[in-house]
Amino acid sequence: MDSLLFPGGEFLGIKWHIWKAVGWLGNAVFFSRFVVQWYATEKRKQVVVPSAFWWLSLTGSLLLLAYALFYQKDSVFIFAYAFTWIPYIRNLVIHRRHKHAHILCPDCGLNCPPQSNYCLNCGTPLKAVNDGGSETAHAG
Ligand SMILES: [Zn+2]
Repeated sequence: MDSLLFPGGEFLGIKWHIWKAVGWLGNAVFFSRFVVQWYATEKRKQVVVPSAFWWLSLTGSLLLLAYALFYQKDSVFIFAYAFTWIPYIRNLVIHRRHKHAHILCPDCGLNCPPQSNYCLNCGTPLKAVNDGGSETAHAG
């Protein structure tokens, strides 16, 4: 395929192939996590790692692993991405558990941080309402 847009079958100096597209998509997704994390940090004016960062890390690294396994077939590249999914998934699990541990205020509906005794917004006692007066809420 020789045309003005694809001289010599290349575009941007790259000989395109479906796995090249997968690899570049993996690069783009993996890079975008920095933008997401930077934005979240600037917005909150403190260092924040949102769950989107871990989702983008996981997706990008799996795309790059697929590229390495099925196209590049280079042991160094394969090993570089073979195990990175483990901390990404672990961090997503921790994010999820922390989110579900939040306590919903029955009065104003604010989602208060885990182990809050009172609502941060309206001061409503949360513990007695949340665990029905027993002390079993923090078990497990
Ligand atoms: Zn409240």
